[in-house]
Amino acid sequence: MPFGKVLIANRGEIALRIHRACQEMGIRTVAVHSTADTTAMHVRLADESVCIGPPPARDSYLNVAAILSAAAITGADAVHPGYGFLSENANFAEMVEAHGLAFIGPRPEHIRMMGDKIAAKDAMRRLGVPLVPGSLGALSSLEEARSVAGEVKYPVLIKAAAGGGGRGMKVARSEAELEEAWRVARTEAKAAFGDDSVYMEKYLDRPRHIELQVLADGYGNVVHFGERDCSLQRRHQKLVEEAGSPVLAAAERDALGAQVTRALKEIGYRNAGTLEFLWQDGQFAFIEMNTRLQVEHPVTEMVCGVDLVKEQLRIAAGEALGYAQSEVRFHGHAIECRITAEHPETFAPSPGRVGTYHAPGGLGVRVDSALYSGYAVPPHYDSLVAKLIVHGATRAEAIARLRRSLAEMVVDGIETTLPLHRAIMEDPEFQAGDYTIHWLERFVANRTPG
Ligand code: ADP
Repeated sequence: MPFGKVLIANRGEIALRIHRACQEMGIRTVAVHSTADTTAMHVRLADESVCIGPPPARDSYLNVAAILSAAAITGADAVHPGYGFLSENANFAEMVEAHGLAFIGPRPEHIRMMGDKIAAKDAMRRLGVPLVPGSLGALSSLEEARSVAGEVKYPVLIKAAAGGGGRGMKVARSEAELEEAWRVARTEAKAAFGDDSVYMEKYLDRPRHIELQVLADGYGNVVHFGERDCSLQRRHQKLVEEAGSPVLAAAERDALGAQVTRALKEIGYRNAGTLEFLWQDGQFAFIEMNTRLQVEHPVTEMVCGVDLVKEQLRIAAGEALGYAQSEVRFHGHAIECRITAEHPETFAPSPGRVGTYHAPGGLGVRVDSALYSGYAVPPHYDSLVAKLIVHGATRAEAIARLRRSLAEMVVDGIETTLPLHRAIMEDPEFQAGDYTIHWLERFVANRTPG
C-alpha cells in the first residue's frame, strides 16, 4: 500500500475519481471543501473532510495554507491535486514536499518548466521533438512579431507563455490584424496570468489535436499509453475525446511514442504527463505539455485497461512501473463526452438544483460524475458536471453505445450540453471521423437559431 491517507485537493468528479482509486488500494481519503460544497458528493464519500474556506476558489481550493493545515490536522501523508486549481503550481508542489508530504505528480522543476510554454517548447526542440513553426522565444516587440510573421507567413497565432484554458491566444490573418492581436493577447495574458510574455506560432488551418499519455517512474522507465484525439473543441476547450484517433495508424503512434518517451527519459520526468500536438498532413507539431492527470484520461484507461490514478499513487510512493512498453496493449475504442451545466446552444452557465439525475449503464459504459438527484450545482466553479465514457470493440460500436447512453441519461432541473452531444453523435462527418479542431465551432454555429 503506497500511502496510509491521501488528501485530495480538488472537488467534483475528479475528487471522486481519486477517492475511488484510493479506496480500492486501501488508502484513507481526506476531502477538502469550500462552504459552497458542504453537501458535495466528494465530501460525503471521503473518510474525513475539512472545510478550507468560503466559496471563491482563491479563498478555498487555491488556499495553500488552509490545504496544508488540513493535511497536518488529519495526518495525511500525500496530496493529490487532480486537475485545474493547484495541479500545475510548482510552488505548491514544493511546499507539499517541504511539509514532509508526497506530492502525487511530477517534480516541481518539471511542472515549472512545462508551465512556461516557451521554456517547454525550447526543451522539446533541444530533445528533437518537432514543433509548430514560430518564434524561438518570447517576442520582445511588435516589430519582432512582424518579422517572425513575415517568415512563417500569415495566418499566425499570438499565444501567452503562461497560457492555459485557451486564454491569451489571438489569431492575426494578415499584417493589418497583427497589432490588434498583439495588444489583445498581451492584455489578456497579463489579466489572466499576471505575465504578458507572448510568443508566435504559425496558425494551422486544419489540424487535429492529438495528445500522448505517458507515465514515468523516475528510475528511467517511461511508458506511453497511446494517443487521444481531442479535436472537438469550442473556444480551444475540449468537448469530446477519443482513444485512439480515427486517423492515426499504429505505426505513427509508435514512432511518436518512441520519440516522446526518449525525450522524457532524458529530462528525468516522473509521474503522469501528456504531450499535446497538432497533427496536419501526417506531421506532428508539439504545442504544450500538461504535467498532471487530464480530464480526458478515462478514454486511455478504457482502451489500455490501466488505472492511471493508481499508477500515479504507486509512482509517488517510489514504486517502479514494473512493465515495459511492449506490455501496453490497446483494445477497441473509447469516447468521452464532457457534459457541462450550460445551455446547449448559447452556452450560458446554468448552475442550480438538479431534479432527477439518472446515469446510463450497461456494458462498456462509465460515468464519472459527482451529481445526484437534488444536488445544487454551485455557480462558483467549472461547469463540468459529468463525463460519459464508453468503450466498444470498434469506433462504430462506441458511437452506437454513446447514442443509446446519451438517450438514457437524465439530468433535469438545469440546462446541460446533453442535447449537443446527442446531435454530434448523429452527424455523418463525426461518424466518419472526418473533423479538425475547427469542426465543432461550425457545427455549433449551424445549430444556433439566427
Ligand atoms: P491552452 O493551454 O490555452 O489550452 P494550447 O496551446 O494547448 O493552449 O492550445 C489549445 C488549442 O488551441 C489547441 O488544442 C488547438 O485547438 C488550438 N491551437 C493552439 N495552437 C495552435 C496553432 N498553432 N494553430 C492552430 N490552432 C492552435
